[in-house]
Amino acid sequence: MKRSKSFLIIGGGLVGLATAYRILERQPTVKVTLLEKESATGMHQSTHNSGVLHAGLYYAPGSAKAKLAVAGIKQMTQFCRSENIPHEICGKLVVAVTSDELPRLDELLRRGAANGLQGLRKIGKDDIRKIEPHVNAIAAAHVPEEGIVDYRQVCDRLETIIQERGGRVETGAELINLRGTNGQWLARTATAEFTADYLINCAGLQCDRVAELAGEKRDVKIVPFRGEYYQLTPAAQHLVKNLIYPVPNPQFPFLGVHFTRMIQGGVEAGPNAVLAFAREGYRLTDIDIKDLADVFSFPGFWRFLGKFPGMALSEFVQSLSKDRFCKALQRLVPDIRAQDLVPGHSGVRAQAMKNSGELVNDFHLLHRDNAIHVLNAPSPAATASLAIGEFITNQILF
Ligand SMILES: Cc1cc2nc3c(=O)[nH]c(=O)nc-3n(C[C@H](O)[C@H](O)[C@H](O)COP(=O)(O)OP(=O)(O)OC[C@H]3O[C@@H](n4cnc5c(N)ncnc54)[C@H](O)[C@@H]3O)c2cc1C
Repeated sequence: MKRSKSFLIIGGGLVGLATAYRILERQPTVKVTLLEKESATGMHQSTHNSGVLHAGLYYAPGSAKAKLAVAGIKQMTQFCRSENIPHEICGKLVVAVTSDELPRLDELLRRGAANGLQGLRKIGKDDIRKIEPHVNAIAAAHVPEEGIVDYRQVCDRLETIIQERGGRVETGAELINLRGTNGQWLARTATAEFTADYLINCAGLQCDRVAELAGEKRDVKIVPFRGEYYQLTPAAQHLVKNLIYPVPNPQFPFLGVHFTRMIQGGVEAGPNAVLAFAREGYRLTDIDIKDLADVFSFPGFWRFLGKFPGMALSEFVQSLSKDRFCKALQRLVPDIRAQDLVPGHSGVRAQAMKNSGELVNDFHLLHRDNAIHVLNAPSPAATASLAIGEFITNQILF
């Protein structure tokens, strides 16, 4: 009898979980093992984020981000509906405060329309006030398809379904060694060995290192950017109804500090984007010498810094100064005061950077005969995770 194929997935964030889920949905007889180094799945980016469902407004038409966000938000909302996971399509405003932002707002509207977003429209002051009465803006893009979700529950539910379908999810299982021989992968953790025909690297903040274990030369390096949040005090929460975003700087892949109503209740403000001194460093004081040496010995990082010294410094100062953070928020909602903000959580983005210092903008997957390495899956990869899992499944099963 022909032996069915076996797949080894490294990383139990949303991308790894969604990939395991999609493979088993397509071919229930294959063997799927997922290794997660933490004691539970979804302990890094997948649950340290804004909890937003992105509809595909920002991304260049035709890019993987555009295609997979547009497909992904539909798949994610469908999944949440069928699994009773809290989510809400509440809509979002991207607001232009000054006239020099209008051409960029128009470009976003053009991109959104080209990506097929429904109900997207440009609105003026009066309509803005009807949707978000405390916003100060001269124009805005209203994106009615966007929403909020509980990604923790998405991770938990995906993990349960994978196991119900016969997949194995091994937690506390950090991949430390990989060998490819005779068309098979041999993977080692501190306590066990696993073999598989096919390797799928979804290791997020560690994906370049896992690729290296598989024998790949690093063509991009992960540079960790921490995003810090404040929470609005209950007394100030009425100032934000749903999601309020600035017009982003097109040279930078991050969206700028914004307001997000959370599905669990409350409102968050942030995240900024500060170089993290540890890949999994959630506080300013978290330092990992190996991670730091990795960044500082990377010529791409210095080229990046040379291109954006002002931006890097300003994000760092904003991280240290609540008043600076508050000023950025007051551009959007002038009534916010520093005393309305209390420190919240943070997350670290796994952002791939090229040797040239350019940040990799699009999702980046490296295909090999018996492996796929997901080497750049920043925002909106939580929204798009089920579509990314479907895309990978299409590549490896058909
Ligand atoms: C601050 C912030 C805000 C964001 N906001 C949003 C948003 O609102 N909406 C959105 O769609 N996206 C958002 N994102 C992006 C989104 O969270 C990520 O793109 C997505 O979660 C990536 O999932 P992942 O599975 O690739 O990575 P992760 O969730 O980081 O998972 C990778 C997993 O691999 C494991 N791992 C690593 N190395 C090994 C190893 N050697 N062996 C075993 N396991 C290993 C890790 O422990 C981890 O669990 C945000 C991200 C951040 C940081």
